[in-house]
Amino acid sequence: MQNVYNLTLKDLEDYFVSKGDKKFRATQVFEWLYRKKVTSFSEMTNLKKEVIADLEENFTVSTLKIVKVEKDVDVAKYLFSLNDSEKVEAVLMNHDYGNSVCISTQVGCNMGCKFCESGRLKKVRNLETHEMVEQLLEIEKECGKRISHVVVMGIGEPFDNYENLVRFIEIVNHDHGLALGSRHITVSTCGVVPKIIEFSKLPYQVNLAISLHAPNNEIRDQIMPINKAYPLEVLIDTLKKYIEKTNRRVTFEYILLSGINDRKEHAQCLAELVRGMNCYINLIPYNETNNIDFKRSKKETILEFYDILKKNKVNATIRREFGSKISAACGQLRSKKEEYDEIILYDRYGKSERS
Ligand code: SAH
Repeated sequence: MQNVYNLTLKDLEDYFVSKGDKKFRATQVFEWLYRKKVTSFSEMTNLKKEVIADLEENFTVSTLKIVKVEKDVDVAKYLFSLNDSEKVEAVLMNHDYGNSVCISTQVGCNMGCKFCESGRLKKVRNLETHEMVEQLLEIEKECGKRISHVVVMGIGEPFDNYENLVRFIEIVNHDHGLALGSRHITVSTCGVVPKIIEFSKLPYQVNLAISLHAPNNEIRDQIMPINKAYPLEVLIDTLKKYIEKTNRRVTFEYILLSGINDRKEHAQCLAELVRGMNCYINLIPYNETNNIDFKRSKKETILEFYDILKKNKVNATIRREFGSKISAACGQLRSKKEEYDEIILYDRYGKSERS
């Protein structure tokens, strides 16, 4: 049986037409699922009994279960159990501009970035579209607030689960779906070049973020295996074409790792790398994990790095940190360490991150 949250409006229209029914039946079902947020077909009271029976016979509805919620100021981490008992996490962040959810796209991850705790577990499987959609629906239900933004930055590499990702975007962005504006949706990739090219051809105005984390191949090769497949010059060239084609600004994420990529010359080199590009750089203070090879850069180092970018007229912000106390911050999902630094707000050095 297919899960109904896997279906785009078009899929559902095709389904009803194939059954000799009307297209608009699909819109009715979407309204129930995504506006009124019912979780059983029997609650769809404007549908005929036969239609409800047919849907019940052919589709399942909710499958994800929240098994744990950890809350801190402005942030909550949710652990979900999937149908096959695999687990994934998602994070809710309350910003001044709305509520944003960071969703996972895979169980585990194969990208092998050295600093990332979330990727220590090798990929077990892709999440299906409905499992991504349900992360949003379940969190919305649990917290009782409207989710206005989604960032695809949890566990997994979204461009390694491309078709399900695109379907997810179609559903959450659609007016009859969750109606999240495309500018309120951000997808982050470690740099899967062929998929960036495909992504540029989509009609959505979704934000693209690139986990860059190094100003040159020498460093990037050491910390991100993807760089061997798609070295920096190829990635940057692809992004220049992406920007030209979509007319959209790209975000670069750059974790500052003490002694590895945080020197003054690295900042200078980074500024040169992105010169002339319509982009901005989000500097991310590294969230320390069990991995002793990587340490957070000192605050002064981070500020110096930031200043060099600014002097070079590169748009940059220092990311406001969320959830390090409850291990909900970037790179900490599914990690075990329990004690973390105080949450530090870098807001005064730049606007907090917005998508
Ligand atoms: N695979 C995608 C989606 C994951 S996004 C990607 O790589 O973009 C998660 C972001 O958190 C990435 O930018 C990742 O590099 C970053 N990250 C990983 N570990 C981190 C850590 N310990 N501290 C801060 N950021 C981290």
